[in-house]
Amino acid sequence: MALHPHHATRFGWRLWLLLPEYWRLLTPHGRPKAAMCSSSLVDARCPHGNAVPSSDCACGVHYIADLDAFRDYCGHYLDQGHMELFGQDYQTWRLPIAATFGVACGPVERDRKVLDALRTDRYRILAAVVPTTIDGDAQQQIRRHYRVPVLDGLTGSACSAVASAMSSTVSEHDLQRYAQQPATPPDELTLQWNATIQRRPFRAFVPPRSALPQHVQAMLERDKQRRRAFIPELPAELATP
Ligand SMILES: [Zn+2]
Repeated sequence: MALHPHHATRFGWRLWLLLPEYWRLLTPHGRPKAAMCSSSLVDARCPHGNAVPSSDCACGVHYIADLDAFRDYCGHYLDQGHMELFGQDYQTWRLPIAATFGVACGPVERDRKVLDALRTDRYRILAAVVPTTIDGDAQQQIRRHYRVPVLDGLTGSACSAVASAMSSTVSEHDLQRYAQQPATPPDELTLQWNATIQRRPFRAFVPPRSALPQHVQAMLERDKQRRRAFIPELPAELATP
């Protein structure tokens, strides 16, 4: 059954990387060569031929409805305002991050890896929150390009203020409109960026567990325990090695 438009779990947070200079949002997956998102309307693609979100695959635009759970998941990055990424050959990239608050326009399913996360076929960004290190000009560029309010202060109360302000502005009518409206076609920069990724797919460097920062190890361990507790039969391909 479809969730009521104002059902709390329709609204939620996503973490993004920010491409410096161009100030575009990149998905944090496949990093550092991550896909660029060119519009405030984010559509999921499924290479498996399923209607997203499907129980047969993990595809979807992922988000976390609860701000505390979002902070549990990636608060470390929100606090430091950037993510250090390991490429092949141990090359390190440091990219600023952004969080978006948005609404799921279509059907919603639970994520299969992160217990608190949800996934949908279409997520509309309602506001972006960036670290205070992102200057006014850059914030203006993000605002102009994505046509959403941009605030700074990921660690303060800005996030909860954004959540309560924005979630009350979306009407049932808006939600239907978002669900039907196709995302803005990607511009030249986005096409080029994403084409480059396809030509030269980035093979993520997966460091050994012992090389991960303590807090990440703790997070993985905690998620593993919770999965054991709540999901007794996890598909083999999703099990933590
Ligand atoms: Zn899929």
